[in-house]
Amino acid sequence: MKTPFITKDKALEIAKEIPTPFHIYDEKGIRENARKLKEAFSWNKGFREYFAVKATPNPFILKTLMEEGCGFDCSSYTELMLSDKVGGKQHDIMFSSNETPDEDFKLAYDLGAIINLDDFTHIEILDKLTGIPETISCRYNPGGEFKTSETGNVMDTPKDAKYGFTHEQIIEGYRLLKEKGAKRFGMHAFLASNTLTNDYYPVLAAIMFRAAVEIKEKAGVELSFINLSGGVGIPYRPGQPANDILEIGRRVKEAYEEILVPAGMGDVAIYTELGRFMLAPYGGLVTKAIREKHIYREYIGVDACAANLMRPAIYDAYHHITVLGKENAPLDHVYDVVGGLCENCDKFAKQRELPKIDMGDILFIHDTGAHGFSMGYNYNGKLRSAEVMLKEDGSFQLIRRAETPKDYFATFDFCEYSFK
Ligand SMILES: *Cc1c(COP(=O)(O)O)cnc(C)c1O
Repeated sequence: MKTPFITKDKALEIAKEIPTPFHIYDEKGIRENARKLKEAFSWNKGFREYFAVKATPNPFILKTLMEEGCGFDCSSYTELMLSDKVGGKQHDIMFSSNETPDEDFKLAYDLGAIINLDDFTHIEILDKLTGIPETISCRYNPGGEFKTSETGNVMDTPKDAKYGFTHEQIIEGYRLLKEKGAKRFGMHAFLASNTLTNDYYPVLAAIMFRAAVEIKEKAGVELSFINLSGGVGIPYRPGQPANDILEIGRRVKEAYEEILVPAGMGDVAIYTELGRFMLAPYGGLVTKAIREKHIYREYIGVDACAANLMRPAIYDAYHHITVLGKENAPLDHVYDVVGGLCENCDKFAKQRELPKIDMGDILFIHDTGAHGFSMGYNYNGKLRSAEVMLKEDGSFQLIRRAETPKDYFATFDFCEYSFK
């Protein structure tokens, strides 16, 4: 069973002020989860989560996470601006970007963010642009296939991924960075996405810890922090087991004590850069059933579309749907729940068993809190929706207004086709 964090009454109350569709976030859930992550890694003195801004780039969300002690992981110029605006200072900001433009490097440097280099060639580029900052990080790509054990499933294939330094490059990279004056070093790796196993972080950590020991021996560089990045997943489908973050924290600690401590590296800080795990379950897309049609399949048309939530259309991703007020009704209908884009992939659900849906019913599409609103776009002239925060005291707050046609025309403000 997946239970929405709002009731039908609450959704209707909000919809009176803020028309559907909108994304809604659960402040209480966000805070509790952030605290649990902190608890899981409380054994590590320097632990910090740098929330992956791209997952949910909303200043109100960022502020909430900052209050829980999180920093921000940015990948672009505007994400850096956003983190700065919210009050992120210096090392509160991690800059993990790739194919990085000069301006982005410059802004990250000027903000005093921790720059996480994606490639060996970026050392020279950054050195020429701004000089090498005292604190610097490198992204590691061990190549090959990533398995949770010798006999385990292949989780991903780093050798095919565009990110990071190779094993040889990273050792040479730290040597070069040290020569150029860097004083404090970090390492980052992101080897699999949306993992639904407690093995991911511990296995990744062991790979990185071993590399860290080798880097100390071969490059004479002792890392100050190891950034396990994102990738801890969430159960999108009902019945899928959730990751146990406390267990994950314990097992990363075991690897730490087995590999780093004996190498005299017992003060390395652990960082994470989670996006999905921090936000996905604590966001939902609230949308209204506005049309139905009966052809070769039964269709329910809603007022949201893939422009509001792209994951089903591009990854064929499953998002659970609850018809609010019909939580306990029998699932005796089979529908495709669709948006209005002129693309047949614009289906939030295909052949889904649901209760009978009547026009005007409010649907709650689950787990849209990360990589939901943020992947939105304006295809078919569709406008981005509002975002709403359900506060801990049960009240709600508009945290982003919906776009209007004026916003759509804003990029023509230089000519006669601008919105008048
Ligand atoms: C996307 C991304 C993350 C967050 O990934 P999740 O799967 O949302 O946890 C973290 N770090 C980097 C560099 C990313 O690109």
